[in-house]
This record gives sequence, structure tokens and C-alpha cells, in this order.
Amino acid sequence: MENFIEFKNLLLAEKTRLEGELSGIAHKNPDIKGDWEPSAPDLNIVVADPDEVADSIEKFENQAAIEVELEAELMNVTAALTRIEAGTYGTCTICKAPIEEARLRANPSARTCIAHREE
Ligand SMILES: [Zn+2]
Repeated sequence: MENFIEFKNLLLAEKTRLEGELSGIAHKNPDIKGDWEPSAPDLNIVVADPDEVADSIEKFENQAAIEVELEAELMNVTAALTRIEAGTYGTCTICKAPIEEARLRANPSARTCIAHREE
């Protein structure tokens, strides 16, 4: 079996990128390893201007939605890296066939072959 070093490097680069983006809008949950929480806006800075408070809350909600997406991507990437270490990377979780190389190139964290993809 090939060693997937190229995909490992792609996944590691993606992990670094996602963690960088997450660290801008979230912080690591000290209680749960690998979990991130959106950073709350500092509403105390805003001096009782309802419009500014509303803006700040809206910004926080948008960031929270982005945070959830980035965290889901990061979990996929981390899971793929774990599969590389475990030797199960590149195998469809449904039919156990090797995942097509083109599919892995398009999505290195893919868990299924083209026939069984869900996206
Ligand atoms: Zn399959």
C-alpha cells in the first residue's frame, strides 16, 4: 500500500490553515481536547448604544456560524490524519474499496469512494 505522504502533507497544511482561521474567531475549549468555542464579543466596551450592541451580537452570531463550519472541517481533516496513522486512509467506509485518487485530490479528507459520496 502506498504511504499517502502527499495527502498527509495536504491535510497537515489544511489543518494549519483551519486552526489559524479558528484562532482568529474562537479559542480552544480548555475542557474538551480538540473542541473550539466562538470568542464572545466584548460587549462591555460598547457604551449602552443599542445599535452597536445589536451589531456586535450579529457579528458574534455570524462568527459562531463560521466557527461551527471551520470546526467541522477541522474534525474531518484530523480524522483523515488519524486514518493515515491507523493505515485505514483511502478506503471507502461503505464498500471498503480504495477511494479514487482524483477524489482524494479534490477532497483529501474523503471517507467514501465516488459511488458512495454524500456531498
Ligand atoms: Zn464505496
